[in-house]
This record gives sequence, C-alpha cells and structure tokens, in this order.
Amino acid sequence: MGRVINFSAGPSALPLEVLKRAQSELLNTHQSGMSIMEMSHRSKSFERILHEAKKRLRSLMNIPDSYKILFLQGGASLQFSMIPLNLLQKDNEAAYLITGSWSKKAYAEAKKVGDATIFASSEDDAFRSIPDFAESTLSKRTSYLHVTSNNTIEGTRISVFPKTNNNIPIVTDLSSNILSEKINVTDHGVIYAGAQKNLGPSGVTVVIIREDLIGKTEATTLPTMLDYAIHAKADSLYNTPPTFAIYMINLVLEWVESIGGIEDMERRNRKKAQLLYDAIDCSKLFSSSVKKENRSLMNVPFKTKNEELDQAFLHFAASQKLVELKGHRSVGGMRASLYNAMPLEGVERLTDAMTQFEKRST
Ligand SMILES: *Cc1c(COP(=O)(O)O)cnc(C)c1O
Repeated sequence: MGRVINFSAGPSALPLEVLKRAQSELLNTHQSGMSIMEMSHRSKSFERILHEAKKRLRSLMNIPDSYKILFLQGGASLQFSMIPLNLLQKDNEAAYLITGSWSKKAYAEAKKVGDATIFASSEDDAFRSIPDFAESTLSKRTSYLHVTSNNTIEGTRISVFPKTNNNIPIVTDLSSNILSEKINVTDHGVIYAGAQKNLGPSGVTVVIIREDLIGKTEATTLPTMLDYAIHAKADSLYNTPPTFAIYMINLVLEWVESIGGIEDMERRNRKKAQLLYDAIDCSKLFSSSVKKENRSLMNVPFKTKNEELDQAFLHFAASQKLVELKGHRSVGGMRASLYNAMPLEGVERLTDAMTQFEKRST
C-alpha cells in the first residue's frame, strides 16, 4: 500500500483504522449528506461530535466533573501565554520546572506577562535528566507551578510530579504523552496538550482545567480569545472551533477505547519502549545519553559513534521504509517517537534494522 513506518515527533502517525474511517465518512459524515468540513459548528451533528469527544476523554482519563475540557487553537505554544495571562495573579509569581526546550519556551512567555521563577532546572546537564527539586523552596506567593511531563526533544519524562497538596496548582504540558500512560488528573490544576502527537491532527489543543482556576485574572485587558472563562462558558464554541480536528480526536479516542483504554495503552507503550531501550543498551554501536531513570516512553533519542554513521543509518532505515528518524537539530543523532499509534511491529522493524546495520558496519 506504500505506507511507511513513521517515527515522526509531530505531527505524527495516526492509527490506520482511524484514517480509513475518516476516509469512508469524508463525503457524507453521519448521514448528513455533507463532509464534516462543510458542516456548521452550530449544527446538531457537530455538537454531537464535540459532546462525544469530551465524554470519551473524560471517561478515558477519569476527569472529574469539577474540570472543564476545552478545545482551543494556537497550539500548545499559545498555552505558554494563556496560562500566565489567566492564572498569574498580581504580586504573585509563576514557578517553572525547566526540563527541556519546551519548558524553556513556556518560561520565556511567562516572563513577558509577569514574575516567573525557575523552580529547578537540568539545563546544566544538557537536559539529559529531570532535576531534583524540593517543593519547600516554592514561595507562598506562587500562583502555579508549570511542568513539562514528557520532553519531546530531549527524551526524558517526569515519573513523579511535584506535590504541592493543591495549595499551588500544577500546570502540566502533556502534549507528547497525553493518553500514553495513566495520569492522576486531580494532581494537576491544568493539563494541556497540542493534539498532533497522541490525539489527532494539528490545529486543536486540549485544555483540561479545574473550574476554580477559571476567571482568576484581574486584568480587564485580557483579549476575549485568550480568556479561559469565555471558552468555558461557550463550551468551546465561542467562535468556530477546528471542527475537523475535533472530529478526528473523537475517532482517535474511540480507537483508544477499542485498545482497552489508557492502562492497556500504557502496557503497550512500555513494551515498545523497553524493546528499543534494550536494543540500544545491548548494542556496541548505538547509545543513549539520557539518564536511565528519566527515559521517556514516547521519544527515544539515540546515536551511533559519529555523524557520518548516523547519516548512514538514517539512509539504511529509510531504505526499509523506516522514516522520520532524524534527531532534533539541537540534539543530533536519531530520535524514534513511539506514540500510541506506533504498533509494536514498527519498533521490531526498527530494532531489526539496528541489528543488521551494526553487523554490516563492524
Ligand atoms: C510539540 C510540543 C509543543 C508545541 O506544540 P505546538 O502545538 O506546536 O505549539 C509544546 N510542548 C511539548 C511538550 C511539545 O511536545
């Protein structure tokens, strides 16, 4: 059929079943006689899709009723600004756990809005680890603590979130590992994720926010489109939402249900990651510089002994239809993204290619 094994970090592979379903419904979605893309966002048909997507996400992630689910635009990157604009209160500060490029960007945006401080950082270690942190160092005037749960570029993951007993809400960028492992939603005040890694196509960002954190800002100058309260009140229909992307999320969520939910997804993901890390650890050619306890289940950066060999491996992999394995430009080498839609067989094909390549080049 000409499809490749796509290890892209994002936008990334979608389940084939989901793509086929979307294809089969493209011209006539839910017997409406029109495509989802041609349908009014105020129509009953679309409202049903929006409602279903929220209901599925709520059930899969076990999101209590005291949290709102919003579908917004502007990517996870706009959340870097919306979070401080909505949550950072006057005379308070926002604390940031700096674990990689994305958290650095989030911190930089918060500094434009108000007082932002670094809670802990692993930049000295080139982000190869999650830094130690002590919750007791947080000022009482902290409006929230921001963390990036999975560092897409550097390949690390937070396995134990800071505990602030909800006195200080934790705001979590879950863009690259949402729905990949079990998360206790009530440990977080806000969770947000751009869709294009584990949820669907780009163009929509999911925000899960505790109701008491909505409408906190004193600023009367907050633009309407940047105000969580407006979107919450309008049920994500204040203006035209990204209807096709929300439709796709609903199909992806249905697919996650068919796999058995998040626990089964996590089991699959752990197996996939283990297979690749074992191959790297057993190899004399390939290596990973990430601290073992902090390894990501979703994004696995690895290298050979030099850039030339990296290039040769990327070539060899591509000849076997294993694509998008080039590492992020800031890290180099290779990176395999093993999001939910990557089947175990895809990782098996990759580890086979690594073994073959190592034999050939030694
Ligand atoms: C991809 C990514 C982002 C940026 O997402 P956009 O939707 O492109 O703005 C932010 N944070 C993390 C952890 C990411 O992986």
